[in-house]
Amino acid sequence: HPRACWEDLLRIEEQLTEEERALQAALRRFAAGELAARVRELYRSETTPRELFLQFGGMGLLGATIQGWGCAGMNSVCAGLIGFELERVDSAFHTMVSSQSNLVMHAIHRFGSQAQKDRYLPRLAAGEAIGCFGLTEPDHGSDPSRLASTARPHGDGFVLSGRKTWISNAPIADLFVIWAKAGTPAMIRGFILERGMPGLSTAAITGKLGLRASATGDVVMDEVLVPPFQVLGDAAGMRGPLACINKARYGLCWGAMGAATAVWHEARGYVLQRRQFGRPLAANQLVQKKLADMQTEIALGLAAALQAGRLLDQGRLPAEAIAMLKRNACGKALDIARTARDMLGGNGMSDAYSVMRHMCNLEALNTYEGTSDVNALVLGHAQTGISAFSI
Ligand code: FAD
Repeated sequence: HPRACWEDLLRIEEQLTEEERALQAALRRFAAGELAARVRELYRSETTPRELFLQFGGMGLLGATIQGWGCAGMNSVCAGLIGFELERVDSAFHTMVSSQSNLVMHAIHRFGSQAQKDRYLPRLAAGEAIGCFGLTEPDHGSDPSRLASTARPHGDGFVLSGRKTWISNAPIADLFVIWAKAGTPAMIRGFILERGMPGLSTAAITGKLGLRASATGDVVMDEVLVPPFQVLGDAAGMRGPLACINKARYGLCWGAMGAATAVWHEARGYVLQRRQFGRPLAANQLVQKKLADMQTEIALGLAAALQAGRLLDQGRLPAEAIAMLKRNACGKALDIARTARDMLGGNGMSDAYSVMRHMCNLEALNTYEGTSDVNALVLGHAQTGISAFSI
């Protein structure tokens, strides 16, 4: 019988190319070193340092799958590995990178003009500019198609009014990709706003109990005059924001497994050294079963993420597959983190360990980029032909 390492029974690592493995090794060194050293303080103080974006940019992690404009031009598996390794330390780091890359840069790259790409992408790729993506509103979350922000024609441009909420990176953002309704009948259009435009302001949401190292906020648009240059010409309807959300959802298939791997390893290490009733906790059948369940879900989740990445690069990954894997990865990782927290007993409540921090982060992952239930309804629609969420 061929022997394989207990950590990687399906030999996922062997299926990565040399280039993918090299990226993963470099990321792991960076994440386990610098990010891990800072994460507890950033989490405690709800701080998102701007200079981290410069570091991410310097490593080619921003807009990583884009070719040109200073981006690294990596494949989708590499993008997945970025999510996996960052979330292995803390999901907030991936939230920062994914919002910038999958939501903001992808929107500009896919739907923007040559002049818009030339103006915005190099600064976003370098991390000199921070971007955020405003779709969700106070009264429109799971159903963004009914969003209420408006774009009123004004000369060759538009005047934007409305409020976005729960927007990652918003409090520190320089650039804003905002979705609002224009024309009759009203159609969703994309707009690129820049900090400093009259009428545009942000407010931080403080007191989040998960993803505390990722800044989140409201974006308020009070009659913001948007010149024609800043309109995303090729995006019309929900197709625009959904294309970006799909990319971010794919990243979470890997990212959630990164967080799950971190808590699995922490729980395994803990039960091996912690002794109760005269022997290690790891000697108990109940404890070993928990570890086996974690291992199984993580191995299956990573095998699925890798298959998804390969299909994505071939242009053959259906959006429903991404919804299925995002929902599964986030839900399973959350279960794993709750179990791991329990296995550390009282110590699991302390931020001296990572289990509870990951658990709280995963609550947010389960909700954003389409909640677990909404992604289930996407699958239900695909197999029955009946939409349970639109009237
Ligand atoms: P609601 O839509 O009110 O849903 C509440 C509950 O009802 C959920 O359980 C949901 O599954 C359920 N539900 C809703 N409709 C149905 C239905 N038809 N059938 C059954 N159940 C249903 N948004 C952005 O635009 N940009 C960002 O950068 C961004 N970052 C975020 C960062 C964080 C930390 C968080 C928490 C959220 C972020 N979001 C962002 C917003 C996120 O996408 C929304 O929170 C999410 O889509 C859910 O919307 P909601 O909060 O309004 O919940």
